[in-house]
Amino acid sequence: GLPGCECNTCYGGSDCSLLMPECPADADSGDPLFLEPYWQQHAASSGILVSGWHRMSYQTTGYDFISLELERHIRLLHKAVGNAVTDGKFITFGSGSTQLINALVYALSLHNSTSASPAHVVATVPYYPVYKFRTNLFEGREYKWEGITSEWANASASSRTNFIEFVTSPNNPDGLLRRSVLRGSAVIHDHAYYWPHYSAIPAAADEDIMLFTNSKISGHAGSRFGWAVIKDEKIYERVTRYMLLNTMGVSRDTQLRVLKLIKEMIAAVGGEDDIFEFGYRTMRERWSKLVSIVATSDRFSLQKLSPQFCSYFEKRREPSPAYAWLKCEREEEKDCSALLNRAGIISRTGTLFEADSRYTRLSLIKTGDDIDLLLKRLVALVSGVNQSG
Ligand code: PMP
Repeated sequence: GLPGCECNTCYGGSDCSLLMPECPADADSGDPLFLEPYWQQHAASSGILVSGWHRMSYQTTGYDFISLELERHIRLLHKAVGNAVTDGKFITFGSGSTQLINALVYALSLHNSTSASPAHVVATVPYYPVYKFRTNLFEGREYKWEGITSEWANASASSRTNFIEFVTSPNNPDGLLRRSVLRGSAVIHDHAYYWPHYSAIPAAADEDIMLFTNSKISGHAGSRFGWAVIKDEKIYERVTRYMLLNTMGVSRDTQLRVLKLIKEMIAAVGGEDDIFEFGYRTMRERWSKLVSIVATSDRFSLQKLSPQFCSYFEKRREPSPAYAWLKCEREEEKDCSALLNRAGIISRTGTLFEADSRYTRLSLIKTGDDIDLLLKRLVALVSGVNQSG
């Protein structure tokens, strides 16, 4: 910074380079900047340069505003990692998988529209809250947010028709592999974290509707790119219609950049520069440090994750989740996120995921500096407890 600049709350000194002691550790958002160092090591080979006259058109090489070359490489990436079967399925793009969340709800509710009542959109606690936010934001005649699956699990068969269920596997916030719970529902399988950075890959996912996002693979969340893998042609066409009417497809510049990144990731698979190896190593180290800090006291606990066979690494591997789902164990400490706040740690409260306020989510996918500060604050918090008995 320049002398005399106004520093933010975390930095001080004449050139804003001094970390201030009162700076909070911000573990709130799922910003995947842990992959920044990987791309810094591949700065030249992963860059693109686009001339002013290039790619000006609405048109692309494929139908429906998608780049065929990018679609082909997405299939190659799934094949190289072995996390999803795409043969015989359609792929559509979205501006982040966020845009596709509503596109899929729209497509599936029209698909089941023989019923007079709107489709019931549900998820299992704790769930990624954007499913609810987006469904409510775009609420239409065709579908309605209907809360959590456990409230419908015992409903009569006749009242259990026309459901759209979000299944997040691995789950955000707790990293557990999940399956649908309501029989007969149309299921959107959100596999944002089904990559070797965050999870074992026991087998290739082969569901009818699967959602992926480049944000959590390469870490380029700001490019806003995600895709859906769809078995049924009618549903695929409805998603495509949504994309046409909503934004006329995804930015062609974004598609170009993501193509370059995916090519790089595929080329590195199995080698020294494997991004999945890098991602796993980074996340694994963060998780084990956190586990050992939390284990020094009985005031907090973490979600239980077990080692699991991973077909990508061809061995059993230890857990390396994207988020910690922290629980405050003491009877009197009912609001875990507020307690952490007082200790200089910003987390995302469990109530946002429709879980108990004893739980709170810590993001582990931000920068190395974010993690260092978070762990430092946690050590202080946990050891303070030991002193006071
Ligand atoms: N699904 C899940 C489970 C997520 O955690 C996220 C991002 N935090 C998304 C979807 C959306 O990601 P994006 O819009 O960046 O593709």
